[in-house]
Amino acid sequence: MRRQTDDILDCLYEIDKVREKAELHLLGITRVGAIKEFAALGVTSFDSTSPFRQSFMDDKNNYHTADGAYMAIRVPQVDGNPSLKRKVLAGEVSQSEAKRLERETLRLLRAYDEGDAKASLEKVLNVLRDYEQLVEGDKLDPNKGVKKSRIPKYEIFLQEKPWKTCNCGLCSKLGIEIAVFRGTERNKSRGFHNLAVFAAKIQHIGRAPSQENQ
Ligand SMILES: [Zn+2]
Repeated sequence: MRRQTDDILDCLYEIDKVREKAELHLLGITRVGAIKEFAALGVTSFDSTSPFRQSFMDDKNNYHTADGAYMAIRVPQVDGNPSLKRKVLAGEVSQSEAKRLERETLRLLRAYDEGDAKASLEKVLNVLRDYEQLVEGDKLDPNKGVKKSRIPKYEIFLQEKPWKTCNCGLCSKLGIEIAVFRGTERNKSRGFHNLAVFAAKIQHIGRAPSQENQ
């Protein structure tokens, strides 16, 4: 990441020698850490859909916060997930069992978010593990080992519940639904949350230093 940033900066230094008063627009770049340096080199605007797209495209950084990111909790729809559908058709997975686990996972996630004592973190993680096992199957087998279980990442996310303290407006409305990776609308909402977090991260940039300390 830093190397790519350095490459961009190298370009900007070269451009700076000849740009005179020209203002620059960066497309598709959201390296927040370097935005100040970019600004000093004539960059006055930029855009990127990256924080939005990461909500559903990234392998692990789906829900952004001021200082990091969490992995959204995958609860695939039995009817809408192509690989699950294939397994059902091939007779490897029972459709009714898959649907039961899908429903139970969502039920426990919601109950956990509401503070229901019967939906402990352990219980939620167990059903997530069962559902992951059913969907991913032998991909999780250490001998065939291609994929790591996502459960440890889910555990951190569920323990910290960052959506409870976020003030993007969507998190307070949607609760734990914003943390769940499933269906376009839900994923889009997380994308807008990420954009709000991103906007907050960069809003101080470009202000005079005296303002910044206020
Ligand atoms: Zn939010």
